[in-house]
Amino acid sequence: MSFQHVCVLGATGSIGVSTLDVIQRHPDRMAVYALTGFSRMELLAEQARSCAAQVVVVPDMAARQRFLTAWQGGAAVPEIRVGEQALVDTASDPQVTTVMAAIIGAAGLPSALAAARSGKRVLLANKEALVAAGSVFMKAVQQGGAQLLPIDSEHSAIYQCLAGESPAEPGKAVAGLRRLLVTASGGPFRSRPLEDLAAVTPAQACAHPNWSMGRKISVDSATMLNKGLEVIEAHWLFSVPVQQIEVVIHPQSVIHSMVEYIDGSVMAQLGQPDMRTAIAYGLGFPERLASGVGLLDLATMGRLDFEAPDLLRFPCLRLAYEALRSSQAACVTLNAANEIAVDRFLGEQIRYTQIPEVIEHCLDSLNGRASQTLDALDAVLDLDSETRSIALDYCRRAPGP
Ligand code: NAD
Ligand code: MG
Repeated sequence: MSFQHVCVLGATGSIGVSTLDVIQRHPDRMAVYALTGFSRMELLAEQARSCAAQVVVVPDMAARQRFLTAWQGGAAVPEIRVGEQALVDTASDPQVTTVMAAIIGAAGLPSALAAARSGKRVLLANKEALVAAGSVFMKAVQQGGAQLLPIDSEHSAIYQCLAGESPAEPGKAVAGLRRLLVTASGGPFRSRPLEDLAAVTPAQACAHPNWSMGRKISVDSATMLNKGLEVIEAHWLFSVPVQQIEVVIHPQSVIHSMVEYIDGSVMAQLGQPDMRTAIAYGLGFPERLASGVGLLDLATMGRLDFEAPDLLRFPCLRLAYEALRSSQAACVTLNAANEIAVDRFLGEQIRYTQIPEVIEHCLDSLNGRASQTLDALDAVLDLDSETRSIALDYCRRAPGP
């Protein structure tokens, strides 16, 4: 693998910080070219200084000023690019070989797509991009000649379990595959009495038992909408039909996912719950790189448990399966409605149990739109913003917590 010049989209987030940790362990193989951040300009300045980034992207002129204020003398200030178009331009910058797409939500779609179209090595953490625009995104990867490596731990696990097994042709599943078994921790509310769920707080929902992550994905893990997004993501990444993708709850988060073949053989990938393993795999592929992740001590762990997900407890998982079975428009709606619902829940404007209600209301409002083909980014973004208004309106009228 030749030397990589990396653009980290969403550098100030949880995945961004872990990515910089791995990159800085391998100065002989890779360097940061660009970093982007939406808030936390002090952190962005500190990161840009410590990895000598040549470019940073910030959302607006006020953020630019905060970045400059935080940059205290010394080294030359990196080039500062401003706004949404700058994210797209930087993801496709000819200086960049590798893009880590780690912006949260559908906001990360245009830049992730630009990286795919311009043929980069794309490390995809932003699952919402595939959920909202699976066909558009996979077509861009193929036409742009990009190399797509999944970063979501479950999809990295599946990718690793499939290593060496390549599909007969692009867009076809690997031969001999029976099922993908996507593992889920079950989140913080796996065994909480159902009647208590209406009163849970954002802090409780964000306290994930195994993984430390950004707030939005933490809530998604509590509702298991995250697992639903991952089923949709797996469908697009590995060209596997929905009926061959199953979710199994595995509270210890040691097995990150599995692949079952028609001969009964099941391959699993195990490791500590630390995203640096998947990130190092993506950065190093096809070689293995040290990531800083420690030993897996199975003897201390003692046991690994499994159970089937309860769809009454986790209605968001049911809604995601229904959306995938129904249409791409339903997947766009599911994702956009969830982003609004989670934001309102984190802002304490709706209850935890209202999150699936918002999503269901938006899916019901789709009506005839479900059959609409979404083969261009603009069509996806139009439906995304239309759904957000419907969801916002519903949240405004819903009785608060
Ligand atoms: P986070 O909230 O910690 O960080 C999000 C990053 O995106 C930050 O750098 C933020 O500044 C930036 N951002 C936010 N809104 C933006 C906008 N409108 N425009 C541009 N930039 C914006 O999120 P995270 O937990 O790091 O997750 C990032 C992505 O990775 C998500 O898609 C998530 O589903 C996925 N993912 C995360 C984990 C994890 O362990 N955290 C695991 C698997 C997948
Ligand atoms: Mg995951």
